[in-house]
Amino acid sequence: MKSYILAIDQGTTSSRAMLFDCLGNVVDSEQQEFPQYYPDNGWVEHTPEEIIASVLSTCRKLLAKQHIQAGQIKSLGITNQRETTIVWDKTTHKPIYNAIVWQDRRTSSYCQQLVEQGWAETIQQKTGLVIDPYFSATKLKWLLDNVDGARAKAEAGQLAFGTVDSFILWQLTQGKSHYTDATNASRTMLFNIHQQAWDQELLELFDIPASMLPQVLDSAADFGCTSEQHFGFDIPIQGIAGDQQAALFGQACFETGSVKSTYGTGCFVMVNTGDKALKSNNKLLSTVAYRINGQVTYALEGSIFVAGAVIQWLRDGLELISKASDSERLAMEANQDHGLTLIPAFTGLGAPYWDADARGAILGITRDTGIKEIVNAALQSVCFQTKDLLMAMEKDGIDIKSLKVDGGMTNNQWLLQYLANCLQVEVTQPVSAETTALGVAFLAGLQAGVFQSLSHIQSLWQAKAAFSPQISQADANKRYHSWLDAVERIRTEQT
Ligand code: ADP
Repeated sequence: MKSYILAIDQGTTSSRAMLFDCLGNVVDSEQQEFPQYYPDNGWVEHTPEEIIASVLSTCRKLLAKQHIQAGQIKSLGITNQRETTIVWDKTTHKPIYNAIVWQDRRTSSYCQQLVEQGWAETIQQKTGLVIDPYFSATKLKWLLDNVDGARAKAEAGQLAFGTVDSFILWQLTQGKSHYTDATNASRTMLFNIHQQAWDQELLELFDIPASMLPQVLDSAADFGCTSEQHFGFDIPIQGIAGDQQAALFGQACFETGSVKSTYGTGCFVMVNTGDKALKSNNKLLSTVAYRINGQVTYALEGSIFVAGAVIQWLRDGLELISKASDSERLAMEANQDHGLTLIPAFTGLGAPYWDADARGAILGITRDTGIKEIVNAALQSVCFQTKDLLMAMEKDGIDIKSLKVDGGMTNNQWLLQYLANCLQVEVTQPVSAETTALGVAFLAGLQAGVFQSLSHIQSLWQAKAAFSPQISQADANKRYHSWLDAVERIRTEQT
């Protein structure tokens, strides 16, 4: 009988179950979307019941389809949308309110107050994060302050808090395990990443009773077993990591300075900084990359709000292309010296500018500018924004020599070659596009003894294609400077 590792990849719009063999190859997968709720301006919610139902149903379908018997799944890993906040009743196991999703901005003005009160430095020093509604702490406080009777119940020890990993774990174990892992904890804005403990001062600031919090374990650990009633047999749960950290692990970025960049709707760049949590002076986030055998590896993270979304805009907004993949051919056919710059600052500029009021622009239009040039400039913008992040990382003291990429946009080979040209580093694409699920399968398999060590995992990681710079450094600099000039023109504030 063959052995497998099962990975649950619980994302923002869908849940997936993926079955891996013991060499990290994908055997099969199941995916299910679930509804998004927007009850107010800037509010985004999920129902925890729909999250768990989609998780259970994808896993069950996959196990049935592959005729999996008891004992064949050596280990289970969970990777998840990060920061999304759920509170549930420890006795009934029922959530007291919907999940407040990471994108939700309802706590913006409270975050602004915290900044005005001078908390930014302390919070960055303890948690590695910038004060933002994105992270769980203010969402959790909102739940306790706004759901009837919640605070009294929480103070009486009757409620549990968790990010999505923790909620899934509780449901899979039917309340036996209330744990999270260090990567997810590091996104709550309540966790001291240096001491690897919930921070007393921050719990007091946000008025959060400690009895609600999950215990924080390593990313590869014994988290408990799935209750038999879910799948007909029990499965040990042995890996948990937030999605971007799981992707870093799935890309085998184990060395200090190794970087992965995930190109989906947005883009997340993460660099391994080893056993040091760097304090960014360029508004990047310092976070836990993974924790194994009690040893913490840190990362620096930067994100681009609009990556694949600019291609969606060309398709659905401007109707210049009919499908995303058309962008590759059009970019190739464009006049490559068009001198056009497209800045997709649809919702402002993120790191390293942090200018929420800036808006997008297309500069340098001439009589011969056509659709192809606009598409070409849109793809270039994703590369220049990546360069902005890597420059910020370099300013924070990190030397970047190569970049591993994944995500839907990396199907575009023209993009990857332009990226290598622009960054002047080698860009590598892995055989396995499913780096997030693979990462947590690696973590679970490590704990189960399927994989012996990080170097064993490294040996399983394979490159599918590598792109080397094909233009000179001087040429790359010239192009990047045109981008920087264009960005200067749309900024509303100088920092
Ligand atoms: P997410 O996980 O954020 O939903 P995916 O990793 O599935 O994103 O990637 C989808 C994104 O990639 C979409 O925004 C789409 O426009 C973009 N995309 C997909 N294929 C291509 C392509 N060949 N060229 C450029 N962009 C693409």
